[in-house]
Amino acid sequence: MAATDRQRQLDELAQDILEKEVCADLRAQATQLVMGEGNAFADIVFIGEAPGKKEDIEGKPFIGAAGKFLNVMLEQAGMDRSDVYITNIVKYRPPNNRDPLPAEKAAFLPYLLRQLAIIQPKVVITLGRHSMEYFVPGAKIGDVHGVAVNVVIDNHEFMVMPLYHPAAALYNGGLRQTLIDDFLKVPDLVKTLSA
Ligand code: URA
Repeated sequence: MAATDRQRQLDELAQDILEKEVCADLRAQATQLVMGEGNAFADIVFIGEAPGKKEDIEGKPFIGAAGKFLNVMLEQAGMDRSDVYITNIVKYRPPNNRDPLPAEKAAFLPYLLRQLAIIQPKVVITLGRHSMEYFVPGAKIGDVHGVAVNVVIDNHEFMVMPLYHPAAALYNGGLRQTLIDDFLKVPDLVKTLSA
């Protein structure tokens, strides 16, 4: 499949979210849909929580302080944003950056799964508990961070590695080093799956 075909399918998915009026309340308060960004053929997809203020304005995920930290970790792990795909479970900014509501996460979940079905990554990295809870239900991030598990959803099989959210780790020295250490495991995981 040509790269443009996958990007076209992702664009059609975004259009579908708009036409189906998914989370119309959130949409009414947001600047725009923040669908995701990166390589539609990526082996690795990162899934955060929801766009923040900067992401809402610019229409791109993880471009604020947490995004800068994510970029640094990608670089340390020998990767670039253009090598991976980055998205969120909820694709509109919740007002005042509040936590996404369970109903909002549930409304976007089918679209996230369709997004993954288009990209077909080898590894899904959840950033924080909001995206983790759908892939590793009932898990506590403190117990499972940095541990890859095999997950099958809708006939698609992924390795999922839950990581702490970069925003949570940004100003917490211990968590920050834990996140960096976990992050550095990702390239080896992808290599093992490609072997
Ligand atoms: N935090 C997230 O979870 N997602 C973003 O896109 C930005 C900050």
